[in-house]
Amino acid sequence: MRWRRDPCPCCVTKPDWSCEAPTTEAPAIGRRGLFGAALGLASLALASPVLAAPGDRSIAINRVGTGESFNGIYFREGRYDPDALLSLNWLLRDPHLGEATPMDPRLFDVLHSVAAMMNASEPYEVISGYRTPESNAANARRSRRVSRASLHMSGMAADVRLPGQSSMGMARLAANMQIGGVGLYRRDGFVHLDCGPSRRW
Ligand SMILES: [Zn+2]
Repeated sequence: MRWRRDPCPCCVTKPDWSCEAPTTEAPAIGRRGLFGAALGLASLALASPVLAAPGDRSIAINRVGTGESFNGIYFREGRYDPDALLSLNWLLRDPHLGEATPMDPRLFDVLHSVAAMMNASEPYEVISGYRTPESNAANARRSRRVSRASLHMSGMAADVRLPGQSSMGMARLAANMQIGGVGLYRRDGFVHLDCGPSRRW
């Protein structure tokens, strides 16, 4: 498998990264606001192509930079747990402006599935989750190569690593699962995962 060396389409933690990946508008998410759309997400339950297996779904995340964490079930009895989603929305907020958005819960399914396939014993370290348009635009102003469109702005992406696991291995496995976008940043030691169209770079 060859990994494109192109810049990340969504990650603008480095100002010289640009976006080439398709963007996906998710009608139920991406709205500004703190906790607005958590309710009603039950309608998305089981809509994810990621997981057909029944049962509860859990996730463990440590947020780099804030020291906050979540470790628990976010999907139970066939529905996304609204309280868990609220916690996860806040955990994955844009730390620069302290603003959260309703994350697309399919992102958590991606993270859950990849961790399960990796037999992960440690929580994810999330480097970046939601990004406000302001944060993204600030990066774009610093570099013309930074895209103004990003799945991070839609609450559909996270940049993660799993302690003790190779980023290359995780990226390869996630790409083979074809459950969303996968970007490997080996030098920086993390992987971009999103619940948009399956693609890799
Ligand atoms: Zn990213």
